[in-house]
Amino acid sequence: MGIKLTFHGAAGTVTGSLHELQSNGERIIVDCGMYQGRRKEAERRNRVLPFPARSINSVVLTHAHIDHSGRLPLLVKQGYHGPIYTTPATIDLCESMLRDTAHILESDAKFVNKHHSQDEPVEPLFSMEDAEATMPLFHAVPYHKRRDIGGGITMESRDAGHILGSSSILLTKGDLRLAFSGDVGRPGLPIIRDPEHMPEADYLIMESTYGGQTHPPEGEAIGRLEQVVKETIGRGGRLIIPAFAVGRTQQIVLLLHQLIDQQRIPAVPMFVDSPLAVNVTEAFRAHPECYDEETRGYLTNGEDPFGFKRLIYIKDAEQSKKLNDLKGPMIIISPSGMCEAGRVLHHLRHNAGDPKNTILLAGYQAENTLGRKLEEGYKTVKIFGIPTEVRAKVKCLDELSGHADSHELLNWMEPMTRTLKRVFLVHGEPERSQMLKVQIQERYGIDTVVPEPGEMYEL
Ligand SMILES: [Zn+2]
Repeated sequence: MGIKLTFHGAAGTVTGSLHELQSNGERIIVDCGMYQGRRKEAERRNRVLPFPARSINSVVLTHAHIDHSGRLPLLVKQGYHGPIYTTPATIDLCESMLRDTAHILESDAKFVNKHHSQDEPVEPLFSMEDAEATMPLFHAVPYHKRRDIGGGITMESRDAGHILGSSSILLTKGDLRLAFSGDVGRPGLPIIRDPEHMPEADYLIMESTYGGQTHPPEGEAIGRLEQVVKETIGRGGRLIIPAFAVGRTQQIVLLLHQLIDQQRIPAVPMFVDSPLAVNVTEAFRAHPECYDEETRGYLTNGEDPFGFKRLIYIKDAEQSKKLNDLKGPMIIISPSGMCEAGRVLHHLRHNAGDPKNTILLAGYQAENTLGRKLEEGYKTVKIFGIPTEVRAKVKCLDELSGHADSHELLNWMEPMTRTLKRVFLVHGEPERSQMLKVQIQERYGIDTVVPEPGEMYEL
């Protein structure tokens, strides 16, 4: 008996990862992520799970990013109470992130209900209680350890080098081996280790975020950050860095730490403005087993890689507002990375109009997000629904991308190519997936498919 594989989410798009396996009468899902993008459409898609939650026997989670983990509390709200298997660091990150998401959903619903009282009251996608009820379901499976997950399937994970605790997962049922890449990182990224190669497999379900694209070398990130900081401070401006609270924020902090240590940038005030980033940084501190050599070095010297003089972490909303009253150059790092929500919106609203300032985008900007509009050079954007002029410089720090580029993905999959019968490409805008498909077929001659949402394959 084989496995039936259905692609529910991140098929033809980069968010909402959700794959379902049916095996020996059991149902297992890999990831249960949230859609992001156009608000109304995302809202609508997020509310509907493609199966009854109670029919699922177990869940495997590749990493803590919300587009992979964000609908777990919804699954629990709708009646799921089975295990969720993932790495120890992912569990700690989910603790902060799922709570943070619940908090945002609850406050958004409250806001809408207050201002549009004539309509039916809106219920948040899930509540803080649902997020809290999800946490006891997590089961830690460290990298390289085998674990029976039901349906006659065992799982085993490798470090995907994408964020702290991120994994690629091999599922085995008898002779049948399925590899899920999860999100694959880039070699040389700060803090985390390089992506590990996977054992041989028959089928590979792989991300394709940057299909057909090449990133600048990672080593250039620090020089580029140095240049942007110097230019902005030279103009007497502020540097606003919208950054993902998980991973990107800690990487940028580490690079700024190095630049300050090496006296390459002047010591202006620096702020990490996000309660989530503060909690997530604690989770980073708790998992040195996931660090690369360089970051371990800080610990050996008794230093905190994520803290240094001049850097202030801000949790409190009042303190956050006070940043607007400060004068002179400064650096503010604040989520969200795609400028969709969070405190960075306030900072953008206050600072986008001043040509002395710089907005430094430090990650992938999905279609229809504010970040994408800034990246594409829009001169006026809506922030909180208010048209806001963009006169600040907008720069991108693609070097720090958490995702492998096309070439890096091809290299990553290379050790598996001898046995692979087929590759399924997910987690990419259609054009990106198509470009990677052509490259895989040309270089390795392996049958490659870009599945449509809802498509099922018998393996
Ligand atoms: Zn991710």
